[in-house]
Amino acid sequence: MLSAFEGRIVVVTGASRGIGKGIARRFALSRARVAVVARTPEAAGACAGELREEGGDAHAFAADVRSRDSMTALAGAVGQHFGGVDIVCANAGIFPSSPLADMSAHDWDEVMNTNARSALFTVQAFLPWLKRARAPRIVLTSSITGPVTGFPGWSHYAASKAAQLGFMRTAALELAKDGITVNAVLPGNIVTEGLQQMGPDYVATMSAAIPLARLGTVDDVAAAVLFLASAEASFITGQTLIVDGGQTLPEGSLA
Ligand code: NAP
Repeated sequence: MLSAFEGRIVVVTGASRGIGKGIARRFALSRARVAVVARTPEAAGACAGELREEGGDAHAFAADVRSRDSMTALAGAVGQHFGGVDIVCANAGIFPSSPLADMSAHDWDEVMNTNARSALFTVQAFLPWLKRARAPRIVLTSSITGPVTGFPGWSHYAASKAAQLGFMRTAALELAKDGITVNAVLPGNIVTEGLQQMGPDYVATMSAAIPLARLGTVDDVAAAVLFLASAEASFITGQTLIVDGGQTLPEGSLA
């Protein structure tokens, strides 16, 4: 059993739904104090309200991970509200599809800014708070797509998810002197609102490609995030944890 997160102050970006909401919920159920971040107060507030109804300590904040000013304002608001920040989960991300032949500069920039540049803005903004924290942690949500695999239509997405890991390894080195660990989870195909928008054919094809014969749940990913944020993971930094039901293991298609 992992040590309690009681009283730990946790920020989760992209927490209005999907994996981020799952991470926020699991921290809240573990008695952490959770900052639920999404682009609008309504979306963040709905999730924070649900977590409070379940007995958690959660507060909603609106911020756009593409904007440095927005993230700086967020860090100030969260730090002041809770009196500190211990754990930052940089999870917000988008995955629009576009064949590379048709991909515009705007398509590329939008995905890179939301998924990869956001890691820089998020870590920079919360750094002053993390430096003052006991056992500070940063956990990024990357993906198997890019770091391990490719998928047609997602050249920008795959590049952004691989870029997160390059950032993560160097951030781990730079921040080690402050006792801050920086790690990443790499989800495979996880049942979320975002994934379900890919359509039933995508979901069926992906389920058939997973040795454990099911898509992942947001709780599967959240469990990995909580481990990397735990006291038990204090000597782990700059590392990746794949959560994919074995999807990336086979050399060929499953029999
Ligand atoms: P999702 O259901 O579409 O949720 C995305 C979240 O990101 C929402 O809370 C959204 O909030 C937030 N968001 C998007 N753009 C934002 C911005 N500019 N600023 C702040 N928040 C923003 O996605 P998901 O499936 O849970 O994915 C979450 C993360 O996991 C992403 O990084 C994704 O790449 C990664 N991932 C997902 C899967 C999967 O199978 N689902 C697999 C591998 C990796 P609002 O729209 O309410 O603002």
